[in-house]
Amino acid sequence: MALTGRCACRAITYRLRAKPLIVHACHCRDCQRITGSAFVINLWIERKFLEAAGPAPQSFTLQGGSGRRHDVFFCGACGTYLWSVYGGASDNFVFVRAGTLERPASVTPDVHIFTRSKLPWVVLPEGVPAFRSFYRLEQVWSAASLERLGRRPAATRPRAARG
Ligand SMILES: [Zn+2]
Ligand SMILES: [Zn+2]
Repeated sequence: MALTGRCACRAITYRLRAKPLIVHACHCRDCQRITGSAFVINLWIERKFLEAAGPAPQSFTLQGGSGRRHDVFFCGACGTYLWSVYGGASDNFVFVRAGTLERPASVTPDVHIFTRSKLPWVVLPEGVPAFRSFYRLEQVWSAASLERLGRRPAATRPRAARG
């Protein structure tokens, strides 16, 4: 079933024509601030698979922690933040806020990022990868998602070679 969502006032609705490449729970300060919450849940997906209806969302630009441009898109009528676009290499992708889905429970975070600013009372689930900042896609993404990006999975390294 396709993932669908909308803003609070229903002016903007959207549909994702593919599965997300990956689902991030981001605990960075920017995400905490713009959501007013402990972390954001983002569906990382190719822009071409996001089909939006209604008035064009408005946007503003944040300078990300890495200095990268971060455009945040929201409904001009109700102010709901719907998705973000990160400039540079990932211009062809959107990060859709899972809280705006009709059924937010249909996705689960695949990875937790920027846990260095995670609120202390948030307990991360066992067995889900978590990183203090970002990570190498090849370490976490499924082969199918890497393939959509034109990347190859990392060769498995023997345990002894770690660390
Ligand atoms: Zn709205
Ligand atoms: Zn973030």
